[in-house]
Amino acid sequence: NVTFNITSGLFGSQTHTLRAVNNVDIRLHQGQTIGIVGESGSGKSTLGRALLRLTDISGEVLLDGVDMSEIAGDAMREQRKRLQLVFQDPFGSLSPRMMVGQIITEGLLVHHPELSAKERDLRAIEALEEVQLDPSMRNRYPHEFSGGQRQRIAIARAMVLKPRIVVLDEPTSALDRSVQKQIVDLLRDLQEKNNLSYLFISHDLTVVRAMSDYVMVMKQGVIVEEGLTEQIFDAPTELYTKQLMAAAF
Ligand code: ATP
Ligand code: MG
Repeated sequence: NVTFNITSGLFGSQTHTLRAVNNVDIRLHQGQTIGIVGESGSGKSTLGRALLRLTDISGEVLLDGVDMSEIAGDAMREQRKRLQLVFQDPFGSLSPRMMVGQIITEGLLVHHPELSAKERDLRAIEALEEVQLDPSMRNRYPHEFSGGQRQRIAIARAMVLKPRIVVLDEPTSALDRSVQKQIVDLLRDLQEKNNLSYLFISHDLTVVRAMSDYVMVMKQGVIVEEGLTEQIFDAPTELYTKQLMAAAF
């Protein structure tokens, strides 16, 4: 389980700072999905990045009670690989100069330096099969594939490290509805098989509703409302949440 308290996530200079995330507490249970919704610029991506410490933060990230900021070296790497991130734009986040196999196994070089090239290749094959892609794709480049396939590659890159928690930042937003459905089905399948926890960030309320056990509503860096999915969708108490819901198609 991960407990997550971010007192602040700051951007900016000495003269101008922006508190993009302000006192957010998250308790994510194993195998569960928390949806994060909120208007554009409300801090959703910053929150996701803060959890992985890709953003300067103050506060703590406790993974099974271990404070991620208090550990270093091997122990840190061990915990860090348990948390993976999948971004919205699968093209932007997949290096165009690397073959798919290399992209998927890049993290293994850091987290499993003991593996041989042959063993890494086997892991790439497994990971591609896990996301229902043809293993022969590993010798080709990301631009040769569709948006949906690229998103599967991005998911395979996360899965190869056998994470416990995956932060999904708009994982379906760049895709059309039919492909969105396929990715949602894949994510659910992977969640069930691996008992994964997801932090599911999206402005697409239909997808959030389908995916989440619990929903947190973000506004200007703060969680203004949270609760079980049905409660947030069917009986929101905050005007902001009501407006967010009303703006959905
Ligand atoms: P969207 O739905 O459009 O993706 P978001 O909820 O993910 O929005 P964030 O990207 O987290 O919002 O941005 C929160 C705030 O932090 C915004 O005001 C944004 O301009 C600011 N911000 C984000 N990244 C940076 C950065 N690297 N440097 C400075 N400010 C940033
Ligand atoms: Mg964002």
